[in-house]
Amino acid sequence: MKLELAGKVAIVTGASRGIGRAVAEVLAGEGAKLVLVARSADRLEALATSLAVDTIVVACDLREPDAAARVVGCAVERFGAVDVLVNVAGATKRGDFLELADADWADGYALKLFGAMRLCRAAWPHLRASRGSIVNISGIGGRTGSADFTIGGTVNAALLNLTKALADRGVRDGVRVNAVNPGSTLTERLRARVEALASEERIDFADAEKKMAEKLRVARFGAPAEIARAVAFLASPAAGYCQGVVLDVDGGATRTL
Ligand code: NAD
Repeated sequence: MKLELAGKVAIVTGASRGIGRAVAEVLAGEGAKLVLVARSADRLEALATSLAVDTIVVACDLREPDAAARVVGCAVERFGAVDVLVNVAGATKRGDFLELADADWADGYALKLFGAMRLCRAAWPHLRASRGSIVNISGIGGRTGSADFTIGGTVNAALLNLTKALADRGVRDGVRVNAVNPGSTLTERLRARVEALASEERIDFADAEKKMAEKLRVARFGAPAEIARAVAFLASPAAGYCQGVVLDVDGGATRTL
């Protein structure tokens, strides 16, 4: 199946590591031109150097209100268009609901909801012109609540609703908007949680990984590239009739409809 992404201009946030980096690598493999966004300029530059496609790097903090417009401005200045926006950046604090402070909530929402919303808004006129698409990376916690993931779960649910709302508008404007819900995916963030469990229970990494996977009732954790391939499909014209789709890529973790 041809994804027809060659020469398309894609903005990928959270591209310095984990799922965002894997998305950048898969899109580059399809021949897309990339706008790589995250906080770490060094990591983004290193990634850009390793990719065999035209890229620009925009290092910024997406919690800042003017960052999204700057990212889109850089993309248009360099490439003259935006065809794809993939919102990956997100970091929400886990923990006991009674211990989480207002500042933790504000911080989680500032990046994952407001950052993504502002990018959608800034990129929209360009996506309308190119008949492009958006893929929002949410998370299975948006469908299924859990006690120690109140910030992440609610922000993911909000992002899923925004996906549906913009997909509704996109019918009129010719912009496709879809979401991917990753399940537990072995990035640095999850690796740190597995390492913490391993040291807490005095077991090795592989046993801790197995224990966590069993608790989630999945056979194993996902690889970032497995999420990225689903993103590339939804972003591409090959998914031309996918509008407002919420795709769980979670190894079967979500058992509800
Ligand atoms: P990660 O922590 O490895 O990477 C996060 C990326 O976001 C990095 O590139 C980081 O630089 C960037 N970022 C963080 N704060 C930023 C800020 N203020 N401004 C700009 N960029 C910023 O995360 P990951 O595990 O790859 O997860 C990526 C996305 O997938 C997140 O939205 C996360 O909620 C979601 N997700 C991940 C999992 C998982 O198991 N890894 C599961 C469900 C959902």
